[in-house]
Amino acid sequence: TKWVLTFGDGRAEGRAELRELLGGKGANLAEMANLGLPVPPGFTVTTEVCTHYYANGRSYPTELQAQVDAGLDHIQAITGRVFGDAVNPLLVSVRSGSRASMPGMMDTILNLGLNDQTVAGLAEGSGNPRFAYDSYRRFIQMYSNVVLGVGHHSFEDILETAKEKKGVVEDTDLTADDLLALVASYKAKVLKETGEPFPQDPRDQLWGAIGAVFSSWMNARAITYRRLNDIPESWGTAVNVQAMVFGNMGDTSATGVAFTRNPSTGENRLYGEFLVNAQGEDVVAGIRTPQPITEASRIEGNVAAPSLEKRLPEVFTEFVRVSNVLEKHYRDMQDLEFTVERGKLWMLQARNGKRTAKAALKIAVDLASEGLITRDEAVARIDPPSLDQLLHPTIDPKAERKVIATGLPASPGAAQGELVFSSEDAEVAVAAGKKVILARTETSPEDIHGMHVSEGILTTRGGMTSHAAVVARGMGKPCVSGAGMLRIDEKSGTLTVTGRVFKAGDVVTIDGSTGQVLEGAVAMVQPELSGDFATLMRWADEVRRMGVRANAETPDDARAARRFGAEGIGLSRTEHMFFDESRIVSVREMILADDEAGRRKALGQLLPFQRADFVALFEIMKGLPVTIRLLDPPLHEFLPHTEKDMAEVSAAMGVDVEKLRARAAELSEFNPMLGFRGCRLAIAYPEIAEMQARAIFEAAIEAAKSTGAPVTPEVMVPLVMGRPDFDFVKARIDAVAKLVEEETGEKLVYQVGTMIELPRACLKADEIAETAEFFSFGTNDLTQTALGISRDDAATFLKHYTDKHLLPSDPFVTIDREGVGELVVLGVERGRAVRPKIKLGICGEHGGDPASIAFCEEIGLDYVSCSPYRVPIARLAAAQAAL
Ligand code: PEP
Ligand code: MG
Repeated sequence: TKWVLTFGDGRAEGRAELRELLGGKGANLAEMANLGLPVPPGFTVTTEVCTHYYANGRSYPTELQAQVDAGLDHIQAITGRVFGDAVNPLLVSVRSGSRASMPGMMDTILNLGLNDQTVAGLAEGSGNPRFAYDSYRRFIQMYSNVVLGVGHHSFEDILETAKEKKGVVEDTDLTADDLLALVASYKAKVLKETGEPFPQDPRDQLWGAIGAVFSSWMNARAITYRRLNDIPESWGTAVNVQAMVFGNMGDTSATGVAFTRNPSTGENRLYGEFLVNAQGEDVVAGIRTPQPITEASRIEGNVAAPSLEKRLPEVFTEFVRVSNVLEKHYRDMQDLEFTVERGKLWMLQARNGKRTAKAALKIAVDLASEGLITRDEAVARIDPPSLDQLLHPTIDPKAERKVIATGLPASPGAAQGELVFSSEDAEVAVAAGKKVILARTETSPEDIHGMHVSEGILTTRGGMTSHAAVVARGMGKPCVSGAGMLRIDEKSGTLTVTGRVFKAGDVVTIDGSTGQVLEGAVAMVQPELSGDFATLMRWADEVRRMGVRANAETPDDARAARRFGAEGIGLSRTEHMFFDESRIVSVREMILADDEAGRRKALGQLLPFQRADFVALFEIMKGLPVTIRLLDPPLHEFLPHTEKDMAEVSAAMGVDVEKLRARAAELSEFNPMLGFRGCRLAIAYPEIAEMQARAIFEAAIEAAKSTGAPVTPEVMVPLVMGRPDFDFVKARIDAVAKLVEEETGEKLVYQVGTMIELPRACLKADEIAETAEFFSFGTNDLTQTALGISRDDAATFLKHYTDKHLLPSDPFVTIDREGVGELVVLGVERGRAVRPKIKLGICGEHGGDPASIAFCEEIGLDYVSCSPYRVPIARLAAAQAAL
């Protein structure tokens, strides 16, 4: 078996594709060597050795020693130096490198090979004894820390004492003799701490370092990092051993890091920093202020130091050439590490650079325009959820965050304002010109008006599909839900967290992208939808198969949906239209009516409002399909709950408070999300569905006239169990259509379809499809009913399932393919078997989740529907799913 692969001098045994075997760093070093770029020669001990090491009681394969020796020979042959030689010593660096980047997992060991003899050779060869002894003392400290477990502080103390004794402040004030004395003290310290002298044999040092790298794969830090980033333990790490090059050999030596394009803006300009006369970790450690690579990328305020361009112009020219080669070769923005040794450039690392969402867009679009990648590749390179960062105002990355509490990132973007604890207070404050954050234990449909005027919403209960979360996403308002450590006392108007009290009027900022609640008004940055964003979305639309619609009911939502490129409305939740102050009275009258006649009278008052709602929607969505769902709320939500509210409503309506209380008690449910909902309402009170159908059809006629474009409404029945209940409601709708046609003399074109959101409806999809013209999978309710997990109070325990890997992810966020997905597939197959052309969509929250969208593509749905602010994400995710 080949356990060791060499590189250097314009060739390598490895290459970029061997990332699994060589780790990211090793694979890219090999690739750079193959490209003929200046890479210090070296070899990579493969990840398979790591696997072997752990599978065999921390021992190495027998052939390894010979192969490492051969690797050293390879480096010696190229450099002309000899490992352990007193005159012309070879020094190496030893670095870990796994398949995925795991920054900071293990310390690097530099200058390995130094001992009491070779240090003299280094002093002689470099003509700089001070440099040689400084390297040696650094090596002892680094090696002892990483390999022998002697704490850094032991050495720092010795160093400080030495400086004090000499009466100097800077390390650089120590002479070669001082450093030689320091080396002696360091070695004495190692002997005292470990009971053994510091290893003088370079080969012992090398094996010690290799062992330390492999052991580090299992240190607590690495284990935690892997868990947080889903990196399997089985991958293992490789070890890279490479000839040292020195950036600290004087004023023509330097070390630095650079990006081939600006990682925060994407601007196509070399961007980076370097330090003259320094070693790699000096840049990272931030002890000295680094200098810019180019004059143009000079960071504001950094005026004194010259750029690499000015300081070492020939090196700069070579570096520009190398970065161009690498960017063209990898066809992506590169993150580079380099060292300059006495005027000669050496590349130490190249990898695809991390970047902000904004930079990612610009870079992808630019690379495609430059012809380096195709448009499809550009589309594939953008992480859909990252678009969120571009659609909402977000917290300025430079701003300081004083976190008060953390909840769920329920609706992205940042918002700030004065705390209010009720929707009424929100309206009053906003009317007075204030900006507010509505903080509630949880929200209900009664809070819509308060949520509407607020900048953002904060709740202490409820998960990702709780009322607050769903409605906030629909409105495009930031929301943090389920911040359980907060206590809200609405009466006293306080929010308490671990003993701290915030009062109504105190300013907070919420970050709906991270779930953080922050103290005060934190600085924010505004979104921008044109330019690269628009270009990339256009490319995505060219490859996308599925349609993307929006869940929207208010004119604002509908307009936002169009702006974001929605191709229609896939779900209009009419219950959200009923809470407006002007209508709630009629809604309550309808609920409290003793008989059908009373209900019809109240419904008559609601009709014009509903008609106007629908006209507005049809007009805004001119030329695009609009699906309107019949009322689907738990009725009790419309009635007052507290005694005070009861008294108020009873006085306002002239209804006996006893009657109000009795009806509220009658309608009250423990789990209203499974109660008197959906078409159950239309079955008990068909006149409600009739009023809505009439409003839809009359609005369709009116909007067709006002816009000059035909309107084909799609009327959707919620929560059906099978064909009989669907047919019952459909018959009422059809009857109303006929009536409206007769009354107006106009011909109506419309469709009646259904939500498929109960397991039984999936099973009976064939029968339902006999009469239903379209299906929209309501995966919120389907998840709730298939898993038996109430969507409103899942947050309390669901986390335990995901933390313990009993569920791969929150099933209300990403569709549970195996269970709920299977039911959807059943529904699709059975529905299509009966009506091959049936239109199939999804309108649960999953319609905006990229992983779920990929599933929808696989099973051949026609469209996904999601909240307006997720429409761009869905467009991109649908495109990627189709690629
Ligand atoms: C659903 O159940 O998936 C759905 C879209 O309807 P709602 O969320 O309004 O119950
Ligand atoms: Mg539903």
